[in-house]
Amino acid sequence: MIDRSALTRNILIGMGLGLVLGSIFHAMGLAETNPLLVFGVNGLFDLGGKAFVASLKLLVVPLVFVSLACGASNLSDGSSIGRIGAKTIGLYLMTTAIAVTLALTVANIVDPGANLSLNTDTEFEASESPPLKKVLLDIIPTNPIEAMAEGNMLQVIVFAILIGVAIAKSGTSGERVREALNDWNEVVMRLIMMLMAIAPFGVFCLMVTLFSNMGFAAIADLAKYFFTVAGVLILHFLLTYALLVRLVANLNPITFYRSFAPVMAYAFSTSSSNATIPITLETVEHRLGVRNEVASFTVPLGATINMDGTAIMQGVATVFIAQAYNLDISMSGYLMVVLTATLASIGTAGVPGVGLITLALVLQQVGLPVEGIALIIGVDRLLDMMRTAVNVSGDAAISTIVAKSEGKFDLAVYEQRTMPGTSEDKPAS
Ligand code: ASP
Repeated sequence: MIDRSALTRNILIGMGLGLVLGSIFHAMGLAETNPLLVFGVNGLFDLGGKAFVASLKLLVVPLVFVSLACGASNLSDGSSIGRIGAKTIGLYLMTTAIAVTLALTVANIVDPGANLSLNTDTEFEASESPPLKKVLLDIIPTNPIEAMAEGNMLQVIVFAILIGVAIAKSGTSGERVREALNDWNEVVMRLIMMLMAIAPFGVFCLMVTLFSNMGFAAIADLAKYFFTVAGVLILHFLLTYALLVRLVANLNPITFYRSFAPVMAYAFSTSSSNATIPITLETVEHRLGVRNEVASFTVPLGATINMDGTAIMQGVATVFIAQAYNLDISMSGYLMVVLTATLASIGTAGVPGVGLITLALVLQQVGLPVEGIALIIGVDRLLDMMRTAVNVSGDAAISTIVAKSEGKFDLAVYEQRTMPGTSEDKPAS
């Protein structure tokens, strides 16, 4: 059985130690042939970090399929699936719109790009965005195996829901499949818990490698931009989610933050909402008390389409770029930013650095130079880590709210009076 508080503590220690050691290596300015760099940072630590991320990723597709098919089959009536879906998507869009609005408001107060002497003679190649019809059609898999092999999350989600609904409607045959899936779900969850035991080392290795190679010099030039994004991320995380959890779900937000903290460490060190899905799902179910029927849908969907942190970066970046190029954004332009950044968030895959690519969409919509993206690339790595932590927190907050409103929520688990999960983890209550 996992000792949760010890694990949380160890993950945070691993993260802190990795950050310090990596920063020391960076400050030492190790030569390319230095054995510490060759065998340590780029050898052992890089290997440890990459192996850890790979072991998280390997779980994503089987977990999402098994867990969601299981969840959908347990929600026997189609109307509750529709209601949960509509509520979740509505809330995801709403929080993202709030996030961009907050970002635009703060950025207009701070003026991060005013009076800059940056070289705006830069180049950035924007990729074409696909037409909406294709985007919608692409949600339906023509070949589910291919969708799984490619890790196309929306297609896997659609396939799993369809199978789950069919299981619920298939009488005794469906019952047998449901039982098998429930067992598989337990097994996959157990595997996640096993991997969580090595997480402190994995997070440590990732942080050492990242911070050894991370240049902070760019932050000095872009301090106003960097700290505006960071400030709004913290504000949205501490204010918006706390208010939603308190006012809409009537739950104590401190408990939410405490239980969810380790997941943020994973998101921070991997910069990937997708790779974090297994840990988010396990925590949302076993620590926040969201039942599988809701969490199995809201968590993978959120990791795919809900990116509040990314939208915040895009809001601040838009104002920054407009100011750096001495261009004005009109009131309708701002509304357009809110709309496109919210939609771009749906189109941003939960993998490192994609938010910067979809920023091109937002800039194009308001007629700002896409080359402006090159101005902020230098500090994006660290901001990516921070915004990914906010992205996954948004998924967890909305999952909790939806589950509470649907009566698919265990208050005792949320308040840590009891622990669900596999038999071994059940405490004597
Ligand atoms: N790395 C982010 C995520 O995985 C996406 C992004 O903003 O680039 O959530």
